[in-house]
Amino acid sequence: CGIIACVGSSNAVDTVLTGLKNLEYRGYDSAGLAIQNGSNLVVRKRAGKISDLTDGFAQELPQGVLGIGHTRWSTHGPPTDENAHPHTSASGTVAVVHNGVISNYEALRTELEGLGYAFESDTDTEVVPHLIEHYLEDGLDSDAAFREAIDRLEGSYAIAAMVEGEETVRAARQGSPLVVGIHDDAYYLASDVPAFLEYTDEVIYLEDGDVVTVEDGSLSITDLAGEPISRETDVVDWDP
Ligand code: GLU
Repeated sequence: CGIIACVGSSNAVDTVLTGLKNLEYRGYDSAGLAIQNGSNLVVRKRAGKISDLTDGFAQELPQGVLGIGHTRWSTHGPPTDENAHPHTSASGTVAVVHNGVISNYEALRTELEGLGYAFESDTDTEVVPHLIEHYLEDGLDSDAAFREAIDRLEGSYAIAAMVEGEETVRAARQGSPLVVGIHDDAYYLASDVPAFLEYTDEVIYLEDGDVVTVEDGSLSITDLAGEPISRETDVVDWDP
């Protein structure tokens, strides 16, 4: 239902939690986040309110400079801790948040289970981290593995993904909104501008088919094949 990601924030967990709270108005049944903490990708998620997440993990919210977060409005599988996002690959090296519905997930799940990938949730989303891990295990680099995985998806999605040990957030959209926020060398990604309005009013509205990479203090927007795309930066005016 709602996505927030940040790269280059001094305190990613605070930024992601602020973004999740800003997205509360959209309605949700579960919330979660993944933070790159040194070389570890740490995931915390829960069914229920954002306060259940912050209270439940009060002493265990990781520090870091980049992260992704999600508020879930369940379409596939009930609101449980397992079905909350981020979803991870079996080894825990890939974390993914997703808005929308992956319409061919049953075929992808059958294929991945046939290859030995064990699923932990009932969601359509969980095919995505397993697909990325599958292509990583095939020898592709993270960028190529992300693009191959996105290329397999049908339906609607705004997706943000992180790979353990990399200070990179990758995102893609098809039929679900996704917007970039920019402030100096910090970048935000969200399903909706209010998610990051405390931090910046400089935005880029992404379009279907766009793939975004935020890495090394810079942002790139390409099509799925990797061809650069230029999108205008807007300044949003939220005064009533
Ligand atoms: N289809 C996904 C799920 O049920 C994402 C739902 C959403 O957009 O929050 O988990």
